[in-house]
Amino acid sequence: MKLIAGVDIGNSTTEVCIGQMDLEGHIQFCSSASVNTTGTKGTVSNVIGIEKALAIALNKIDKNISHLTEIRLNEAAPVIGDTAMETITETIITESTMIGHNPYTPGGEGIGIGITIPLDKICFTNCNEQYIVLIPETVTYEEAARVINQNIDKINGAIVQADEGVLINNRLKKKIPIVDEVQFIEKIPVGMKAVVEVAAQGKTIKQLSNPYGIASIFGLDAEETKYVMHVAKSLIGNRSAVVIRTPKGEVKERVIPAGALFIQDTNRTIVKCNIDEGAQSIMEKINALGIIEDINGEPGTNVGGMLNKMKDGLAELTDRKMEDIKIQDLLAVDTMVPLDVKGALAGEVSMEKAVAIAAMVKADKLPMEKVAQTLEEKTGIKVMVAGVEAVMASLGALTTPGTKLPIAVLDLGGGSTDAALLDENGTVRSVHLAGAGQFITMLIDSELGLNNLSLAEEVKKNPVAKVESLFHIRMETGEVIFYEKPLAPKLFGKVVVITEKEMIPIDKKISMEKIVHVRQKVKRKVFVQNAIRALGKIAPLENIRNIPNVVLVGGSALDFEIPELIMEELSNFNVLAGRGNIRRTEGPRNAVATGLIMSFAEGQI
Ligand code: ADP
Ligand code: MG
Repeated sequence: MKLIAGVDIGNSTTEVCIGQMDLEGHIQFCSSASVNTTGTKGTVSNVIGIEKALAIALNKIDKNISHLTEIRLNEAAPVIGDTAMETITETIITESTMIGHNPYTPGGEGIGIGITIPLDKICFTNCNEQYIVLIPETVTYEEAARVINQNIDKINGAIVQADEGVLINNRLKKKIPIVDEVQFIEKIPVGMKAVVEVAAQGKTIKQLSNPYGIASIFGLDAEETKYVMHVAKSLIGNRSAVVIRTPKGEVKERVIPAGALFIQDTNRTIVKCNIDEGAQSIMEKINALGIIEDINGEPGTNVGGMLNKMKDGLAELTDRKMEDIKIQDLLAVDTMVPLDVKGALAGEVSMEKAVAIAAMVKADKLPMEKVAQTLEEKTGIKVMVAGVEAVMASLGALTTPGTKLPIAVLDLGGGSTDAALLDENGTVRSVHLAGAGQFITMLIDSELGLNNLSLAEEVKKNPVAKVESLFHIRMETGEVIFYEKPLAPKLFGKVVVITEKEMIPIDKKISMEKIVHVRQKVKRKVFVQNAIRALGKIAPLENIRNIPNVVLVGGSALDFEIPELIMEELSNFNVLAGRGNIRRTEGPRNAVATGLIMSFAEGQI
C-alpha cells in the first residue's frame, strides 16, 4: 500500500490531494486540502504552505506526513501576472462652471430653473424673472425659509451650503427642489442660468443625467452637448443634482498623453498601438500577432511608466534583471474611474477614462527542483517534480462525470487564465494568458471608487442587497428577505454585500444597480474575452467549434456568475462547457493535485 500526495502550487492557492495505491495499482483518493500559497510561486517559501496543507489533508484520515511514500509537485506554469491602471483623461472646471452634485439628503422635489442669486439679494429683484437662491452657511434654516416664503413666486430652487435642505423644505409654503452640502458655494457664479433637480425618494434624476436633457434646458448646440456628456454621465443614478450654465461653459476634458504600446512578435515584427485607440483596438492587434516576444511602452508617457514599473516589480520578484523580463501577453480593458474634479464646487467626481492592463511574464522555468529539495530535506519523504501543469489539470478534469477526450480545460486562476487541450493520443496544447481573478478585483475596486481591495474581493464574490428597513432587505434580484430580529442600525438604508458570514455595508453613495452592472461587465471583459482568446489558440485548426467539451476549473470557477457568463458565450460556438466537478466531490478545485496522483498510477503500471 502506497500513500501519495499531489501538490499544486498556484499564485494564490496551494492545493493537495492524498491518494492510496494498492498492490494491483488501483488508486483510491482519500483526502484533500487547500491553503493560501506562502510566498511567490516557485520559491522555497512555498514549503511552509505545502506542509500546512499536507498536514490538514492527512489529519482528516488520521495520518501524518511520515506515512507518505511520495510527494509529487506540479511543474508550476512559469507565469507571473501583474496589473496596473492609468487614467487618460482629466476633467477640469475653470472659474465658471457646470457642476453635478449628489448630497445625501436633498430637500423638496422636482426640477427648478432660474438665475442664480444670493438669498439676501432676492428682495431687490423684480417679479418678471425666476431665480435659484444661493444660501450660505451663515444664514440659519429658519431665516432661509422665511425669506423664501416671502419671495416664493419668483424662486424655483435653492442651493444650500449647509446640510439643511430637508429642514428648510419642511418650512416652505410651496415645494421647490433644494440641493444642499455645496461646500464652495461662494464659487458659484451669480446671475447665471441654473437647474436644480431633486428626484422623489427612491427614484433617480432623469433630466440632468441625460445630455439631451441638459441641452434642452440650456439650448446647447451639438458641440456643446458633447462637453456636457460626461457631466450627465457622472450624474446617472443620483437623487439630486445642480447644473449651472456660464457664458464660456468651462468644463474641460483634458486628454493626458497616454502614449503607445510596442508589441513585438517572434518574427521581430513590431506593431505600434496608441493607448487612446482604446482596449478593443489594442486587443485586436495583440490577437492578430503570432507568439509575442515582448511588449514595451513609449518612454516618457503614462503607459511607458506603467509597463516599466511592472517589469521592475516582476524582476525583483523573480530575482532577474529588468531587461530580461519579457511581457508575453497583455489584456487591456477600457474602464472608467471616479476621480475628484479639479476646481469642483462640492467635491464632485467625474468618471475619467482609464485603461487597465494585466500583463504576464514567462520565466524559462521556475526553480521547482529547489522547492522539492527543501521539502524533501524537511520531511524526509521522497519529493518528485512531476508533469506539466496543463497535462495534470487535464487528467484531473477528466474525473468530472460526463467528460471525455479530447478535453479542454480552462483554468480560471488569480493571476492568469490557462487553457489546455488533451486529445486521445495524449498530445497537449496549452496557453497562459494575462488577466484573471485579481484583475477583476482591481477593476471593481477602481471603477466603483472603493479604494479597498478586500472589500472589492467581497463585492466580486457575493451578491448585494439594499437594507430597506431593519427587518427586511431587497436582494439585487428583487427578492425580499424578512428578518425576525432587527438588523444592526448601522446597516439601515445601506447597500450591503451578502457574504456567507455577514452583511458588509458599502459606505459610498453607489447604487445597487451600479454595483451589479460594474461587477458583471468586468467579469465579462476579463474572463469571457480570455476564454475565447485562450480556446482559439489551443483549438484544432484554431477554430473553437472543433473543441467538443470544456471544463472550467480554478478558484474563479467557484464564482457565482463567471461560469454562466462563459457557458453562455461558448454556446454560441456549439461548445459544451461547464464547471468541473473533480472526482465528483471537489467542484472546480483540486484538478492539478488530482492529476498528479493519477500520473503516479500510470507511471507504476
Ligand atoms: P492559482 O491557481 O493561481 O493559485 P486559484 O485557482 O486559487 O489561483 O484562483 C484564485 C482566484 O480565485 C482569486 O482571484 C480569487 O479571488 C478567486 N476566488 C476564490 N474563491 C472564489 C469564489 N468563491 N468566487 C469567486 N472567485 C473566487
Ligand atoms: Mg492554479
